[in-house]
Amino acid sequence: MPNIAQALEKVHERIAAAAQAAGRDPDEIRLLAVSKTKPPEMIREAWEAGQRAFGENYVKEALSKMDALDDLVIEWHYIGRIQGNKTRDIARHFAWVHGLDKLKHARQLSEYRGESRPPLNCCIQVNLSGEHSKGGIEADILPELAQAVSRLPRLELRGLMTLPDPSGSREEQAEVFEQLAELFGQLRKQGLPLDTLSMGMSGDLELAIAAGSTMVRIGTDIFGPRN
Ligand SMILES: *Cc1c(COP(=O)(O)O)cnc(C)c1O
Repeated sequence: MPNIAQALEKVHERIAAAAQAAGRDPDEIRLLAVSKTKPPEMIREAWEAGQRAFGENYVKEALSKMDALDDLVIEWHYIGRIQGNKTRDIARHFAWVHGLDKLKHARQLSEYRGESRPPLNCCIQVNLSGEHSKGGIEADILPELAQAVSRLPRLELRGLMTLPDPSGSREEQAEVFEQLAELFGQLRKQGLPLDTLSMGMSGDLELAIAAGSTMVRIGTDIFGPRN
């Protein structure tokens, strides 16, 4: 088993170095540890090393880990594809959702989010690499969706998320991150109080931070490769 505490420290060092190279404050960049497919014991180990925010892609798997770890205070982020029949569980059990790409899902999430909990933090996923299988909306309908989501009572629109095509060149990935940052800036100019640019994974966190990322989602470089 990899040493998770050491791996986390290395990732923090990479974030700090990338921030410094970009003339940014490393404290502006949050680390989301992506624990999909990894057992609760590994999440516990990361928690003991100070990590508090974890990302999961599959609702059922996530719920069973939440159960196993219910003695810990964890900020759970749902980063998988959203399915209509899962919006109730997502709204009830997660603090954040990163892959919002349908108004219908947003309405359901808002409806199911309990009044006693803080609003569900959301990022809208934008598809900038032209691949349709991965989800995300086209950039031209973003302003309309963002305005509509921001008006839903139980959601807090925090920002934008993207997944670049992993087979693309470094230049293409950098381009995607820059485009997302540009869209983020435009929405903020329109008055939306966004603070989160969710972009960057194990292989490209430096490029994402150079383009303005405020939350990197790291799995492999913390927990090791997935089977
Ligand atoms: C799996 C996953 C990650 C983590 O990717 P790594 O390359 O393992 O760091 C980040 N974001 C999303 C949406 C994912 O599905």
